[in-house]
Amino acid sequence: MGRSPARAGLVREPPSRLAAVAAARGGQRRDTGDGLRARIEQELLADGAPMYAAEPSGKLLFANHAYRELLQAASGAESDNPSMRLASPHALSQVERALAPVEIEESLAVGQQARSFRSRHIPVFAADGALVAVRGVYHDVSRERALGRRAAHLRDRHDDLTRLVSDWIWEVDRDFNLTFISARAIETFGTHPRLLLGCNLFDLGVFSETGRKAPDRDWRSPFGDKPFRVVNRADGRPRLCRLSGMPIFDSQTGAFTGYHGTGNDITAQTEAEERAARAQARLAEAIESSSEAFALFDDENRLVIFNRKFREYHPMIAELIAPGVGFEELIRAGAERGQFADAVGRVDEWVAHELERQRNPEAAYEQRLSDGRWLKVSDRRTGDGSYVRLRTDITELKQREEALRRAEETSRAAREAAERANHAKSEFLANISHELRTPLNAIIGFSESMLSETFGAIGSPRYKEYIKDIHDSGVHLSNLISDILDVSKVEAGKLELDESVVDVADGITRCIRLVTERADRAKVELKVNLPKRLPKLYADEHKILQILLNLLSNAVKFTPPGGRVTTSAGIDGEGRYRLVVADTGIGIAEADLDTVMTPFGQVASSQTRQHEGTGLGLPLTKALVELHGGALELQSEIDAGTTVTVCLPKERVRPNRARRAAPAVGGPRP
Ligand code: ATP
Ligand code: MG
Repeated sequence: MGRSPARAGLVREPPSRLAAVAAARGGQRRDTGDGLRARIEQELLADGAPMYAAEPSGKLLFANHAYRELLQAASGAESDNPSMRLASPHALSQVERALAPVEIEESLAVGQQARSFRSRHIPVFAADGALVAVRGVYHDVSRERALGRRAAHLRDRHDDLTRLVSDWIWEVDRDFNLTFISARAIETFGTHPRLLLGCNLFDLGVFSETGRKAPDRDWRSPFGDKPFRVVNRADGRPRLCRLSGMPIFDSQTGAFTGYHGTGNDITAQTEAEERAARAQARLAEAIESSSEAFALFDDENRLVIFNRKFREYHPMIAELIAPGVGFEELIRAGAERGQFADAVGRVDEWVAHELERQRNPEAAYEQRLSDGRWLKVSDRRTGDGSYVRLRTDITELKQREEALRRAEETSRAAREAAERANHAKSEFLANISHELRTPLNAIIGFSESMLSETFGAIGSPRYKEYIKDIHDSGVHLSNLISDILDVSKVEAGKLELDESVVDVADGITRCIRLVTERADRAKVELKVNLPKRLPKLYADEHKILQILLNLLSNAVKFTPPGGRVTTSAGIDGEGRYRLVVADTGIGIAEADLDTVMTPFGQVASSQTRQHEGTGLGLPLTKALVELHGGALELQSEIDAGTTVTVCLPKERVRPNRARRAAPAVGGPRP
């Protein structure tokens, strides 16, 4: 094989490819120097990047193999057509316009693939400066572009992640000076992360565990969640972070080049935890100091918390009461050891009942302990299915209730005894009055006939006087017995009304007549004050007369000589019937007003005791008035007089159609 004389400086050693080309072309023919050079150049160009040379019109002067291939792949044009045009005619026009080299980046479809090319197009000028050609070369930059896109994607992903995660990311060099810190760090440090770049990590904060400002010089180990205290530059407040880091080593030399890692601000979380712990402690304290026994069971019926009182109330199972113990286990043990009085002898039944109650808590109920204490138990389910038991010691309350019940029983027994005694008294009085009345009637009747000397004259006038005394005493005794009977009947609620329309004016006249003699003797003036046509009254006539007579006899009895007793009757402003007996007598002290209304209640002054009486008149009168649905009013002033008013309901008023014969004013004389 012949050697081609290579031009020194151009080709030192014939490349094997050229040797192959020479062989292919016959080898025997010796190329001239120029021809060889042109061939070598062509071969070189043929092997290189796509290249072309063209006239400014676009006609190709030269295109290497790679260019023709590219052109064909991109446009499908016939590669060896000498008149074919450039793939990028605009490159040519740009060069023409600029008259300077132009660089273009474009994407070309090569077959099915889109590929990126960077091309450079250079003008070629003739000696007179005219543009005679454009030459260009193409570089396939698809791989470079793909790498660029991938790098951008990775950068975006990194940026997104650093923005999204709550941690911040940091990187330091071998001297722990920050080379990167993510935007999140602004919340912790209170300053823009860019301003932190270059700062030493340990000028920004300290590891609070060691209290040391910076770690050892040859610190190279990874670390995780180390507490790191910093001060926020915006508000000056301390922040607690957790820092994790990994050392970085050069992949080639293995030399330590720094650390990178994450940081996490846990100030708010720590504060919240501390607050929660304080709240928990307060709650525990409150539960402990409660006067009630407290126990909380979780949704699986296991004891969670309880207080001292809860254990105190259940001494027989005190050692079992601990967090985690089951509800059923607890109450069953209590029942078996005799803690609950109601469970004695029927443990299973009682436990089943308690479990049912716990499943469906109802209103609070009472529970008896075998040591005699009583508890009020109130159960409640909470929203999360837990179960709260509150127990209050109500032993004292129960004891008071029991005492009250016993007192009520005693008082009922006493009342019944009193009623029985009263009944016996009434019966006794009824019997005795009958027994007394029979001889009294004889005394009164016989003394009357003796006074009238029916069967012959009485010899001595003194006997006559005695007989009158006997008669008067008999009448007095008879009245007294009637009063006593009436009072006891009123007290027993047995007095009844025998009602009819009563002519009150006539009643007043009759009563006045009965007290006239006594009034004359006592030198007391009697006055009656009635309207022209006094309405009638629907009432028990006998009892109305009794009322009037009692009031009139009191008025006459307690009015000194020269005084006056006025009886009046009429209808008041509200239509009620009023009977009024007013005197100018000795009066009753205010303090005694209640006393005189009670049976046998008399005012024990020296003056009143000059008068006879039992103290039954007023209470009986009051009872009779009330029996008619009315009221008795007593107004009195010592030494000025007394006014007693009987007020009867307007329903008892009846019109009076008859004309009254003579006015009763001044008091009729018998
Ligand atoms: P009895 O009426 O049974 O014969 P009495 O008149 O003493 O006895 P009451 O009519 O009930 O009993 O009166 C009770 C007392 O009230 C009297 O004893 C008297 O002290 C006082 N009293 C009653 N009416 C008057 C009055 N008009 N003026 C002053 N005191 C009066
Ligand atoms: Mg009286």
